[in-house]
Amino acid sequence: MGPTLELHQRIPLPTPATLTACHSNPKAFDVDRGEVTDPAAADRIRQAKATCRTCPIAEACLRWALAHPDQTRIGVWAATTAPECATLRRRLKSRLGPDWVDVLTTGTAPPR
Ligand code: SF4
Repeated sequence: MGPTLELHQRIPLPTPATLTACHSNPKAFDVDRGEVTDPAAADRIRQAKATCRTCPIAEACLRWALAHPDQTRIGVWAATTAPECATLRRRLKSRLGPDWVDVLTTGTAPPR
């Protein structure tokens, strides 16, 4: 893929075979940035993450979330909050280099 392609064109949103929990109950995954460190939201975040860990498309969802910082500024995606996603992006850049998104598209490198 060419470097001029937008990130979202390189890693499309995965299509689940059946409705995922975040589609049927989006409110449970709706976590504001400020809530990430709010003890009042801790249980909800823990629940959302636990649900993601059982999701059949979790790894594809994480790859998509990592490549879409603008669309994942809030919420829990693939058991990962926005600040955790930002940390993973920094690590991937450092581990895989500036073309880390292209490496992710090949599926040869684990996203975590
Ligand atoms: S892993 Fe992704 S698709 Fe699956 S429930 Fe979590 S946010 Fe939704």
